[in-house]
Amino acid sequence: MYARRLKGISLSRIRKMFEVEGEDIINLGIGEPDFEIPEDSKKAIIDALEEGFTHYTPNKGIPELREAIAKKLKSDNNIKRDPDDIIVTVGASEALYMCAQALIDKKDEVLIPDPGFLSYNACVKLAEGKPIPIPLEGKNFRTNPETIESLIGKNTKAIILNSPSNPTGAVTEKDDIKAIAELAEEKNLIIISDEVYEKIIYEKKHYSPGQFTENAIIINGFSKTYAMTGLRIGYITAPREVIEELLKIHQYNTACAPSISQAAALSALKGPQRVVDHMVAEFRRRRNLMHKRLNNMGIECNKPGGAFYMFPYVGDEAKFTEKALEEGVVVVPGSAFGYNGKDHVRFSYATSYDKIKEAMDRIENITDVIPI
Ligand code: PLP
Repeated sequence: MYARRLKGISLSRIRKMFEVEGEDIINLGIGEPDFEIPEDSKKAIIDALEEGFTHYTPNKGIPELREAIAKKLKSDNNIKRDPDDIIVTVGASEALYMCAQALIDKKDEVLIPDPGFLSYNACVKLAEGKPIPIPLEGKNFRTNPETIESLIGKNTKAIILNSPSNPTGAVTEKDDIKAIAELAEEKNLIIISDEVYEKIIYEKKHYSPGQFTENAIIINGFSKTYAMTGLRIGYITAPREVIEELLKIHQYNTACAPSISQAAALSALKGPQRVVDHMVAEFRRRRNLMHKRLNNMGIECNKPGGAFYMFPYVGDEAKFTEKALEEGVVVVPGSAFGYNGKDHVRFSYATSYDKIKEAMDRIENITDVIPI
């Protein structure tokens, strides 16, 4: 009845966690900022509606937005791309899907971080390619260029990178990004770099492989930086010949990103930096609290350098998740993110400081299930 291709793909275990509700439940499973979109973007949406900006836009997105993105890429990432080499997408999700559909053939292998964002595995499989996990290493979940090199075979087509990372919060160091970019050039592989958490970063600096190689496809979005998850707006930039291929999917699939979301995104990019700074400062405060509390409980945990997740080792993840739920705290079991996520859980700190405090008090009651 349904396509056989979909057989190996499971429904997201994180989506399921989104839906857990209850008066006394504290949901640390949620992967979206609990902030409002910037005031200027709200106004831009209202203006867009009033001005009748509710029709199809050019396939690639409105020129003003693509110009603003090109400017951002140059100033923030030192990447020179023509606005014509940018497609505005329906979130980073569409960009990922499009990349897989346009670039992956049957038998192609794609190296994906493990643990990593669920869509990588699914998108590669939906394109009938083969995901090959890159085991992230050590307490800091390093993406090691040498490990990547050892996984490259004759069918390898692309490498997916994600820094700062979902679910670990790890930030890949400049030297590692550079080494992976050089490796991709040497082996003629494409890098697909998912940079949606670029701006949610604490002590470290973000580096994009696009600074070091032309072979990089950069995916970014407005969901996380500007709390616009529901507006479904992101973008992709790639070398010209790749853009032409991506358009074959984008044109026939979504036609264009929502017009009013494009207006909101343009306003966000032009808006004051303090809006993002304010959110990041609050995330840092919550991260520090959660990290301190977990460590005081004896839960082994890296201090994440970015995003809004913590990914501690808890031993039996099923037991931990169940016990946490009994205490009214929702967390996501680590194996949802791949084999190497097992024995961990993902805590999101995209919820208020006070709720995190309360959640940590409750977790303290179940530390007997964690092997020290
Ligand atoms: N990439 C990563 C690493 C994510 O964590 C998410 C959302 O959770 C996405 C992409 C999807 O972002 P968007 O809302 O722009 O589709």
